[in-house]
Amino acid sequence: MNLEAIIGLEIHVQLKTKSKMFCSCSNASDDTKPNSVVCPICLGHPGTLPNLNEEVINYAVKLALALNLKINPRSVFERKNYFYPDLAHGYQISQFEYPLSQNGFFIIEEDNKKIRIGIERLHIENDSAKSMHVDGETLIDFNRAGTPLAEIVTCPDFRSPRQAKLFLQKLRQICRYLNISDADMEKGNLRCDVNISLRPRGDIKLYPKTEIKNLNSFKSVEKAIEYEIKRQTELWEKGEKPEIQTTRGYIDAKQITELQREKEESNDYRYFPEPDIPEIFISDEKIDKLQIEIPELPDEKIKRFINEFEIALNDAEILSNTIEISEFFENTVSEFQTLVSQNDYKKEKSKITKLITGWITSELFKLINKENTNIENIKISPHDFSKFIFEVYKNTINSSNAQKVLKIMFDSGADPESIIKENDFTQINDENELEKLAQKIINENAAQTEEYKSGKENLMKYFVGIAMKETGGRANPEIIETILRNKLK
Ligand code: ZN
Ligand code: MN
Repeated sequence: MNLEAIIGLEIHVQLKTKSKMFCSCSNASDDTKPNSVVCPICLGHPGTLPNLNEEVINYAVKLALALNLKINPRSVFERKNYFYPDLAHGYQISQFEYPLSQNGFFIIEEDNKKIRIGIERLHIENDSAKSMHVDGETLIDFNRAGTPLAEIVTCPDFRSPRQAKLFLQKLRQICRYLNISDADMEKGNLRCDVNISLRPRGDIKLYPKTEIKNLNSFKSVEKAIEYEIKRQTELWEKGEKPEIQTTRGYIDAKQITELQREKEESNDYRYFPEPDIPEIFISDEKIDKLQIEIPELPDEKIKRFINEFEIALNDAEILSNTIEISEFFENTVSEFQTLVSQNDYKKEKSKITKLITGWITSELFKLINKENTNIENIKISPHDFSKFIFEVYKNTINSSNAQKVLKIMFDSGADPESIIKENDFTQINDENELEKLAQKIINENAAQTEEYKSGKENLMKYFVGIAMKETGGRANPEIIETILRNKLK
């Protein structure tokens, strides 16, 4: 049977405003003692009144704009009524009929093909408390109660598990660029439910969908969808396609989904307008003001890097992975420009940016990953890094000593010039000096020289190795090799 998967996502993003959504409790309570960051408002005591935190609107509008959503001039909070022990109010303050924003889209790229994912809506609501199941008992931590959430509902435009994962990864990147959420799935800052149904290819009808919950990593999203496609395909092939909407939970350890319940319709929640909070009005002026605060986003940045610095797409993607990496790169390039003439920079631009890109993405990242740190926390400034690149560019140091210099810079924060001087790393490029050295090596290795001349050419490595050893790694390996080759002809 030729079936295709129809997949949509429902995503909750925790917004990292300083205080909670409706009270002045701190919103950064991840590591604090359970139930220590609470007040009568977020505990839902009778007689208390919520007071909307304006920052929540600002954060959500920025995210909505980045997802190309239309901001509604008027939106309304409604009560979503249901009972659960972690919901002290007996309702969630959410938005239903009049959400903050609607009708957006987001472009993802799979195998060099651009795919447009429609975004139905983005609205704001408060988070519930957190239930923790310990030794057969359920404990509740109200620190999370009242944390602001942006809920994003996509159109069912994904056709593969990988597309869903790519979307979520890009969404996380955008949230971090906007600095509105850490969007860490493992920590629950970014939570995702998947809706999925199958249909015969060519059919335009939508069949009853299955909702998958309890996904807490990009990998589990991908695996759960893969499993569900397999499961539903088998049902279709047996002639038992799903006839009702159901909710299933993902079991990470077994990489399967399990039936939880038949889905409530939204009218089961008995939504009605929240009487304690005024309607929200958002003016065009406010939207313009927030739009200006949005930084250059990854897609634009990648395009600009390719044009401005003549680097490859793949490198541009790596360098714009986070704002901090991109800033380190750009600052290094601009610092480098103060070390050479504008003319030389123009002439040698792609060589220089390639050199900088290469040293950042290979050696510097290696050191950063080994220390499990971030580029914004290292001891090397773009200023010193540009001086280091300049030494490599001028051939003052060869690449093996350059690695040593970088390591010392990384560990101590010292500047490259003094490291090179103190450790005598300066490369020997002087041909006369290397000529003498080559002759000495030939004189002292008569047997190997004969072997080389009779065709064993890989002995060249051996000779160059001696030259490096004799000079403490300072001989220019290319020059000494050329000289040796000429002498041994
Ligand atoms: Zn509170
Ligand atoms: Mn929700």
